[in-house]
Amino acid sequence: MSRPDELDRLVERSRRIGADPALVLHGGGNTSTKLVELDHTGRERRVLRIKGSGSDLATCTRRDFPGLWLDDLLPLRDRDAMSDEEMVAYLARCLVEPDAPRPSIETLLHAFLPAAHVDHVHADAICALANAPDPAAAVADALGGEVAVVPYLRPGFALSKLVAEHAGARAVVLAHHGLVTWGESHEESYELTRELVDRAAAYVGLRPVRVELGGAAGLVGLRGRVSRSRRQVLAVDVAQRALAGRDDAVEIASMRSTPDHMLRIGAETNGDGPVFLVEGVGCVAAGPDPRTARTRLELAAHSHAAVAATRDRFGGASWLSGQEVRDFLEWPLERYKLTLLPPPPELQGYVAIVTGAASGIGRELAADLAARGANVVGADLAGADVEGDLSDERVVDELVHATVDRYGGLDAVVFCAGTAATGTLAEVGDAQWRRSLEVNLTSHFLLTKRVWPVLAEQRIGGSLVYVASKNAFAPGAGFGPYSVAKAGLVQLARVAALEGGPIGVRANAVNPDAVFRGSKLWSDEVRRERAAAHGVPVEELEAFYVDRSLLRREVTAGDVAEAVAFLVSDRSRATTGCVVTVDGGVPGAFPR
Ligand code: ZN
Repeated sequence: MSRPDELDRLVERSRRIGADPALVLHGGGNTSTKLVELDHTGRERRVLRIKGSGSDLATCTRRDFPGLWLDDLLPLRDRDAMSDEEMVAYLARCLVEPDAPRPSIETLLHAFLPAAHVDHVHADAICALANAPDPAAAVADALGGEVAVVPYLRPGFALSKLVAEHAGARAVVLAHHGLVTWGESHEESYELTRELVDRAAAYVGLRPVRVELGGAAGLVGLRGRVSRSRRQVLAVDVAQRALAGRDDAVEIASMRSTPDHMLRIGAETNGDGPVFLVEGVGCVAAGPDPRTARTRLELAAHSHAAVAATRDRFGGASWLSGQEVRDFLEWPLERYKLTLLPPPPELQGYVAIVTGAASGIGRELAADLAARGANVVGADLAGADVEGDLSDERVVDELVHATVDRYGGLDAVVFCAGTAATGTLAEVGDAQWRRSLEVNLTSHFLLTKRVWPVLAEQRIGGSLVYVASKNAFAPGAGFGPYSVAKAGLVQLARVAALEGGPIGVRANAVNPDAVFRGSKLWSDEVRRERAAAHGVPVEELEAFYVDRSLLRREVTAGDVAEAVAFLVSDRSRATTGCVVTVDGGVPGAFPR
């Protein structure tokens, strides 16, 4: 057996197991193969290839299987005890490639079993048996006496030795934990897992678990509750509505089907989170991003379904003691998996609406907030998540509803939608004047009013950022419809700051000037008119604005995005009622 082939086949077998949610969920389970490799001297030596800690069977590759010299591991069988720290240090010295990922916590369990191939899963159906009031009796009845059952022990040296004592059995069920199978071929090990899981599922009457995503509108209070120390978004599984309404929902919520789930979704449902059973709704999961929330929702669906199946089949269930739960959750070896995650981006978990998001500055602001981790809902006439004229209150209602329905709440609004309307007071059309006030001012009031109850109900504050203009303080002749609306917008921000303070809502304005690149504001017509107003040729207009500024530099949408991100984030938690200029320095437009 040549090494590349066997390792490839291990990857293939692992992916096959990982692809079936009835066997393994996100990151759970592990697999191994014992094979022969050449060491640095060219000698043939036995090697254990086992899944690394924290990698996922469904997506694993060859690199996810560190190798350990098997003949260095086997003498450990003669020891009576070994601490976790000793074990981790010892395993690190047995690695074939020293820079390989850390091997699974269950490495010695795989090593001590003599079979060439070993698989370990936390399959729902097996866990449904393993959490019966009497796990040994349940397993014997469902899977036959040749499948051994060992009592719950936290993974480590002692459990590895205990399982090895049952190498003569067909397989081993670990009480309150999962299944260990093995075989002399990849197929044999896989097929045994398959057979035992299918038999267990038939025995307890467990059907395939499916998540059905629903809307999170109506859960604003819950979203606020889970977001106090760190913003989170919600995901909802309406397929668990019946389960949430069961008489024994409290009992189901009080345990997990396997300890692995405790690490990812907490030791119980309806506590501090991140998962909740809500009567009439189903299951709700919170997470720092939608993907994590959905993963937790899936783990909760499987955990709840397995516990419910145990209770239905056996009339009750057994689980770890409170001390065992604490031991597991505080266990450094399990927590190690979490340290492999990159640090979160600044606005992770934030939900932000950006209006005018389809083009120009608004598009840049939306992209910038998203790059900082925020969940952005863009609104614009076309080309955005919510499309329509924001001076129409029905469109504004839809925007707020769509946002809350998708994420469960809202943290920030960036009011960027606007149009440039020019004309002297003597000549501007009445309708054009009204339209400018509608689009540049009233639409922002409509949205402010409609996000208010959401922010109030969440009770975690919020940030409103109004993108006004240098013209709010330094208006231009012939630019009245725009300048007057923008002055009103700054005043709207200040009133919002006054009224928002008591509920922690901050409101600030940003006053940019002369952002030419990527801006839709500067149509040919506006350029011509502003050039004429300043008495410069059209082609010199941009240079004119640069020269006019104190810093003599071009202002970009990226400069505006920096100011907006600061005001959205908690870095500006002590700032409200403020106007931040992003204009290169225009003395006539200094805030006052
Ligand atoms: Zn396990």
